[in-house]
Amino acid sequence: MNSAAMSVSGSVGAAQTPEASPALVLNADFRPLSYFPLSLWCWQDALKAVFLDRVDVVAEYETTVRSPSFEMRLPSVVSLKQYVSHARAPAFTRFNVFLRDSFACQYCGSTARELLTFDHVIPRSKGGRTTWQNIVAACSPCNIKKGGRMPKEAKMFPARKPTRPTMYELNERGRAFPPHYLHESWQDFLYWDSELEP
Ligand SMILES: [Zn+2]
Repeated sequence: MNSAAMSVSGSVGAAQTPEASPALVLNADFRPLSYFPLSLWCWQDALKAVFLDRVDVVAEYETTVRSPSFEMRLPSVVSLKQYVSHARAPAFTRFNVFLRDSFACQYCGSTARELLTFDHVIPRSKGGRTTWQNIVAACSPCNIKKGGRMPKEAKMFPARKPTRPTMYELNERGRAFPPHYLHESWQDFLYWDSELEP
């Protein structure tokens, strides 16, 4: 299907333009594929997946798209027909390190985002490498305070021993960071997947 050849009727009863109508993507178990960033597809990708029979449409927007042969509502929630395993190892990226550490300084617990930097637990000057096991999120005051010293010398130890997280662990962390925009049809899937208060 060529989505570019289709016309969009966003005016009739539509609260939103198609561009502002991303679809929430659920895994085959109906849990969001990822939480942070929240798994969203643009409407073109969502429609493509529908036509390729890779997803089921779970909920729809009011907004419709039209081609000469058909008309349909834009999906607001889709679920993958085939389960995507989270067994693969997450990429070693700045974002994922921050996410593993819940965007908090591992020395003082500060969550001031603008101050967040990376610290080599064992300094590079002492042979410390840039790996999951040696990099932690640290606020810049703590980073400066620790300087090129070993944790013992500085008496500064990370709150959590840094390790390589699993995709599952990263996803769990990401659940604590809801996105800025939530379509009402997404709420059920995000709500039902949150932990019950003890
Ligand atoms: Zn700090």
